[in-house]
Amino acid sequence: MSPGQPQRRSSSKASKSSKASRPARDAGPGEAPVFLRKLGLRPRKSLGQHFLVDEMLLADIASAAVRDRTVPVLEIGAGPGVLTQELVARADTVVAVEIDEDLSALTRARLSPEYPGLTVVNADVLDFEPVELLAEAGAEPPFIAVGNLPYYITQPIVRKLLESDPAPEHIVVLVQREVAQRMVGGPGKESLLSMSIKVYGEPRYLFDVPATAFWPPPKVQSAVVAIDRLPEPAIGLTAETIEPFFHLVRAGFAQPRKQLHNILVEESGYERGAILDVLAAAGIDPAARPQHLSLEDWGRLFRAFIAAFPDALDVR
Ligand code: SAM
Repeated sequence: MSPGQPQRRSSSKASKSSKASRPARDAGPGEAPVFLRKLGLRPRKSLGQHFLVDEMLLADIASAAVRDRTVPVLEIGAGPGVLTQELVARADTVVAVEIDEDLSALTRARLSPEYPGLTVVNADVLDFEPVELLAEAGAEPPFIAVGNLPYYITQPIVRKLLESDPAPEHIVVLVQREVAQRMVGGPGKESLLSMSIKVYGEPRYLFDVPATAFWPPPKVQSAVVAIDRLPEPAIGLTAETIEPFFHLVRAGFAQPRKQLHNILVEESGYERGAILDVLAAAGIDPAARPQHLSLEDWGRLFRAFIAAFPDALDVR
């Protein structure tokens, strides 16, 4: 770790303790299942602690994530280890990161004796590169990432995973349903988030998860999204062009309800005639709204824009 980074408070491989138990669905409304009750948990809202208690869904998420048991798994937000348990049953190496010291200690004590391939790391996932976290288990890329993510930091976590180098080859995350829809986008429903993901990978909406599948139930519905990493950034973007490209896309989504020609005139300050020429060169309807443009459309618009205004997107 380089100086100045927060110190990880603890991280260890297996140590002996009791056999792991499984989650159970035997609770009344609003009540913790026996499995979690026995652990004496008090979920911390501030850390987005809504624990998944549906065994079938846990198994479905783990199966969607782990396709090859020899590929190391980085789990984000292990909590009491219910998803971790499904992952360690399917993969040889799992690095489970959890910010809550009590929960990481609990999961380590509960699962490590039975699963020597598990390493529980007590850390803030945003403070470290995935490769540093994997190194805690002596593991190396390629790797996959999976998590029932804390909703309050879903987007920074997804961005960190996608932009990390090396990045996970496959990501499976449980997120708020509305965020899942924005991540996946689709014709007429693209978003700044879907564009940010599609530059690096191919997102797929896997399945819905009802609030009743969690304890305590969140106020929102949830869904599982998978992202398959592309070998190279899409539409021919490079390390040099990605930042200026996103400069344009961010400007485009700054006023999502407006038509593109109005947005670009307002955001760039260029003459309307010049902007209409750029849109025509890119083959984009000036009356389109940003959510109607596919990644390929944005790619053409970007190239036409820098051809017309070579210094406009110079973000250095
Ligand atoms: N994986 C468990 C499950 O499926 O029941 C817990 C999921 S819960 C929605 C999210 C977990 O992420 C919580 O245990 C929370 O403490 C943890 N968490 C929150 N912020 C975190 C961060 N910055 N780094 C690592 N873990 C974090």
